[in-house]
Amino acid sequence: MIQGISKYLVGLLIAMWSWTALADAGIRNQEILQCKEAEIVTWGDGQDRPTAATSLIFFYKHGGAPTWFQEHQVINLLARASAEWSKCGIPAQVTPWTGPVQNTKGIVVVQWDGSGSGGHFGLANLTQNQLSLGAQAFQLLNQRNPSHNALDTLQMVLAHEMGHFYGMLAHSRRCIDVLSYYNDGKGGQCYARDPSLLKQFPEYRSSLPTACDIQRCKILNRMP
Ligand SMILES: [Zn+2]
Repeated sequence: MIQGISKYLVGLLIAMWSWTALADAGIRNQEILQCKEAEIVTWGDGQDRPTAATSLIFFYKHGGAPTWFQEHQVINLLARASAEWSKCGIPAQVTPWTGPVQNTKGIVVVQWDGSGSGGHFGLANLTQNQLSLGAQAFQLLNQRNPSHNALDTLQMVLAHEMGHFYGMLAHSRRCIDVLSYYNDGKGGQCYARDPSLLKQFPEYRSSLPTACDIQRCKILNRMP
């Protein structure tokens, strides 16, 4: 009898735990899919300006990539990010790099370049039209947390840096946005509908553009 009750209680606790985890994921998903205009706020750390390009092409150069990333995997992640950003109204496409391309608006070379990435996971250079990825930062991530799926981080980095090429230079203050910064290093924290959830996820930020990322992009580039 007692055993029966404890089994029942364990079952109930597991059900409650799963329900809470599901509810948390639900709130986070809602933030990804819905944008309230008042939530579009940036840290004001850069000057947004509409992109001069009518379409974007990302040429991917695989040389120098960490050995655990296959070329087709990175291309797939780029394609996912560009398909989402295209919802802004400015289409983007991805193609493997085969040789030098002209340095002109709308043509971006995505490459593994430690100095270009400034030691970060990724960095967008809008003058050079280069999106540089840092193999060293990914190596460090792999050493510190070998069980972590680095493709998730790479997806987020690619989608984030791609967003800068749409003219959004300031970072979003909304934690879930792919263009967000969690804090400003001066005590300012990002905004979440339920801030207690920030600790529930290893990475709260979305790995692809959210509804607010797209909305902000449309407003900036005067897209319907
Ligand atoms: Zn950034």
